[in-house]
Amino acid sequence: MSTGSARHDAVLSVIRWKQNKKAGLDDADTAIEDVYGQNVFCDEEMVNRLPSSVYKRLQKTITSGAKLDPEIADAVALAMKEWAIDRGATHYCHWFQPLTGESAEKHDSFVTPTGTGKAITKFSGLELVQGEPDASSFPSGGLRATFEARGYTAWDATSPAFILEKLNGKTLCIPTAFASWTGDALDMKTPLLRSMDALDREARRVLAFFRPGDEEQFGRINATIGCEQEYFLVDSHFHFARPDLMSCGRTLIGTGSPKGQQLDDHYFGSIPDRVLAYMFEVELQLYKLGIPVQTRHNEVAPGQYEIAPYFENANVACDHGMMTMRILESVARDFGMHCLMHEKPFAGINGSGKHTNWSLSTAEGQNLLDPGDNPHDNLQFMTFLCAVIKAVDKYAGLLRATIASAGNDHRLGANEAPPAIISIFLGDLLTEALNNVVKGKSKNNKQSTLKLGANALAHLPRHYGDRNRTSPFAFTGNKFEFRAVGSSATTSWPTTIINTTVAQILGEIADQFKRELGAKPTEAKLRSVVTKFVKHVHKEHGRVIFNGDNYSDEWREEAERRGLLNLTNTIDSLAQLKVKAHTDLLIKQQVLSKRELNSRYHIQLEQFNTKKLIEADTLLSMGKTLVLPAVLRHQTMVANAVTATASAGGSVEDEQMILSEISRAGNSLRRSLHVLDELREKVPADEIKAGLYITNTLVPQAKKCRAACDMVEGLVADDIWPLPTYREMLFIK
Ligand code: ADP
Ligand code: MG
Repeated sequence: MSTGSARHDAVLSVIRWKQNKKAGLDDADTAIEDVYGQNVFCDEEMVNRLPSSVYKRLQKTITSGAKLDPEIADAVALAMKEWAIDRGATHYCHWFQPLTGESAEKHDSFVTPTGTGKAITKFSGLELVQGEPDASSFPSGGLRATFEARGYTAWDATSPAFILEKLNGKTLCIPTAFASWTGDALDMKTPLLRSMDALDREARRVLAFFRPGDEEQFGRINATIGCEQEYFLVDSHFHFARPDLMSCGRTLIGTGSPKGQQLDDHYFGSIPDRVLAYMFEVELQLYKLGIPVQTRHNEVAPGQYEIAPYFENANVACDHGMMTMRILESVARDFGMHCLMHEKPFAGINGSGKHTNWSLSTAEGQNLLDPGDNPHDNLQFMTFLCAVIKAVDKYAGLLRATIASAGNDHRLGANEAPPAIISIFLGDLLTEALNNVVKGKSKNNKQSTLKLGANALAHLPRHYGDRNRTSPFAFTGNKFEFRAVGSSATTSWPTTIINTTVAQILGEIADQFKRELGAKPTEAKLRSVVTKFVKHVHKEHGRVIFNGDNYSDEWREEAERRGLLNLTNTIDSLAQLKVKAHTDLLIKQQVLSKRELNSRYHIQLEQFNTKKLIEADTLLSMGKTLVLPAVLRHQTMVANAVTATASAGGSVEDEQMILSEISRAGNSLRRSLHVLDELREKVPADEIKAGLYITNTLVPQAKKCRAACDMVEGLVADDIWPLPTYREMLFIK
């Protein structure tokens, strides 16, 4: 029964919510190992279903990046189809990641009519390898004229095919790359794959100095990624009662709840029952898809949670990251909730990030960013570590551009997430070890157990104690954690750029080592070239290392003295994609052509502008149609009280003060909305000018409108206020 108020209906529905479906494993007898990977055309299925020669040829592509042999496509397609139909699939789709930042699917049925009134199922090698979705509805950033609608999807054999299981049907999904008919990449996957090839090519050359003759043994070198995904959950009733959540994914107005995150009682706290049920179900679905989720916990803000998988090869991890976001969203609906992936859904409490943990691994599983047990391994570790330091310093602006978005603008620099200044946390012990190399000291002082050795590189700290949660790019013992990535982002883009910049530096190192080591390298010579390189990085790029508090004002000043970039908004950050050195780098490493990079620039810019304009329009509409009417209702109520008190002969002084307070607040809101309305009309047509105008003029005015709305929320009667409040959305679970 309706209370006549969407907000109160929402509260009642939440209170009455009952779980009607058991979450997680249905049957106590089902073991998680049996469920895991059930919906993946995994290695075991390939072994069982493919002729062994086909299997071997396919494996070559999957494990060593060899070119796909087109002759095997028919055999693989047949096996894949049989497997999918055995599991109940009726359709297949090419699954890809267009530049919208979402995933996309084009579904086709396996069914082919026989002409006799019956049908058979078919799926050919050609259908597996290539698809032709209409590309005209996907953003191309000017790469493609509207009449050139043709686009191609191409099978990515290195990411396993999977079955998307919905209540009413199952679809075989084939991960694919997406390009225009001119061959330009129109997706996130293509440049990622190219960057992984670049990284493998250059990293292998460097590793060969440390492990000569071992190339067969260490095999392909891959970037590894493990992403910690943060998200918020709100009840769907609240979600649908808020136009801002529905249209923008974040609240545009709303006063903070008196109780927010001050008591630090949410982080790692016990997980509410409904949320825990939801997590079990999410995890079950992810396990079926072979996504190795490992960690779940409450995050700092009320209503905020995190999910993190075990790390994987970067391409697979990025696909899995996209799938995880979709599953988080779709399962939430089954539990009567909405999953908010926006970087800043609520003002005044923490926003969400997607900490992207990155490292390098050989095919045999050696982590190249793991300090070794002996001096030789440490030379190798120090080389790779310093390559990353140099890459991050040299290409900080490019890295910053990859995480620039309307949502992330709220996070970076808001003293809850890393600042917009890209710096590296190394930790005191490792920094000291680095300093010692430069000074030529023989050991680091703090770890007294590590006394042996003739050289500073001999003994490196393996487990140093501290972490730094304020750093945008933190070394955490055997990997780097890019903490500045936004929660709604696809990790492929920042990962592509980390891979490419590191590949470039590794290539330079390989060239230099080759020159300096000559034809007969010895351990002593190797030690000396590595030491020289470490000294170079320390001297020229040591400025990027910062172990202190990244939130402090002192750091901002210090960073400026060091000459580090501090790009505080999306528009300035995106300009980095236009810098010649960055374009040259991407072309040289064959990751993106100039045209492709340019298209990405335009798409990121357009997305920023569009999202901010939707926000402005939503705010205007909420202000006019929800908040101002609430002011009028409240005013009428108080005015009636004044009349009633006056007619009873009482003093109306207090009532009149209340009346003038609400009418002042109402007037101020009316004025600020009027100004926003006028400014909204004047957005320049040129996209760069529009971006700057939105950032410098429209957004500040929207903030004023918000303040005026929030003032009203603090004054009007609770039963008149039309929107679910922060307190309700964050605490009624
Ligand atoms: P914290 O919150 O303390 O930073 P978590 O355990 O939540 O750490 O997440 C760490 C993430 O880093 C996990 O996803 C983990 O799999 C990932 N990770 C660990 N080792 C590597 C590695 N070598 N390469 C990439 N990611 C890694
Ligand atoms: Mg974590």
